[in-house]
Amino acid sequence: AKDNGRNNYQFYTEDMNRKALERLGMENSLRRALEKNELFMVYQPRISLETGKIIGAEALLRWKHTKLGLISPGEFIPIAEEIGTIHSIGKWALETVCKQAKKWNDLLQAELKVSVNISAIQFQKDDLVEIIKNALEAAQLKPNLLELEITENTIMQKTERTLKIIKELKAIGVEISIDDFGTGFSSLSYIKEFDSDNLKIDKSFIDDIGSGSSNESIIGAIISMAHSMKMTVVAEGVETNQQLEFLRSIDCDEVQGYFFSKPILPSEFMSLLATEL
Ligand code: C2E
Ligand code: CA
Ligand code: CA
Ligand code: CA
Repeated sequence: AKDNGRNNYQFYTEDMNRKALERLGMENSLRRALEKNELFMVYQPRISLETGKIIGAEALLRWKHTKLGLISPGEFIPIAEEIGTIHSIGKWALETVCKQAKKWNDLLQAELKVSVNISAIQFQKDDLVEIIKNALEAAQLKPNLLELEITENTIMQKTERTLKIIKELKAIGVEISIDDFGTGFSSLSYIKEFDSDNLKIDKSFIDDIGSGSSNESIIGAIISMAHSMKMTVVAEGVETNQQLEFLRSIDCDEVQGYFFSKPILPSEFMSLLATEL
């Protein structure tokens, strides 16, 4: 029994060692992912419910690891945030997306908007505003075509500092969107202080449409209050026609979700736009 115990202990530590090594390996490859060109952006179309047309896209990060294949941002972004790599990755993402948007708009003579997710960690450094200014300038993209998605959780932490940075960003002319709205416990009047242009209702609320859940009336209330505060509302994660029709009936402005399109490569997005012309 004594031997057995020892073996179990050994297995346990071996397992821990393996996990720690895996994690270390992941951190090291993440640190080099940018220079190895393993990162790329995909774009999910945003559709206006009024016109039924694509009005822009949300840019989402992808990592193709040489050995492990595609790793989802849900897995690697928290690590990138922990080890600080999110700063260089986030800067690269902003530069890449601004250039891409400028290209589409020039080619199609359009005014498509792009949104980029900004991590709470990026707000902790002093250079965020400068990075965004530079990315816009380098790409020659009009600031009002760039929207920054900031999660409800981000704005609930470090309020004064975050508020100050958001004011500076608004002064440049970029738009602000509150992502994952409804998952935190902030009120719309608190959100209003941030002078945001747009509210994204979290997918968990959209999932409940049609189930007779009280979330349906909550969505309606969020939309009318947001409108009275001069904010537009986007529903994320729309997967069915039923959800779409409900959202249309309660005057939601925009939708995003697999019902229309998954996030796609720039070339695919371009083809999709071309079919609308
Ligand atoms: P998010 O910002 O809430 O993005 C929406 C997520 O929902 C995306 O997952 C998108 O692919 C997925 N999605 C969209 N429509 C549907 C749908 O109809 N059904 C389902 N089941 N899913 C849908 P993704 O691309 O895996 O990204 C996950 C999260 O990773 C994002 O959540 C965001 O928090 C983070 N992320 C992604 N790209 C970036 C980035 O460039 N920077 C930062 N800081 N975070 C990012
Ligand atoms: Ca987002
Ligand atoms: Ca979201
Ligand atoms: Ca989310």
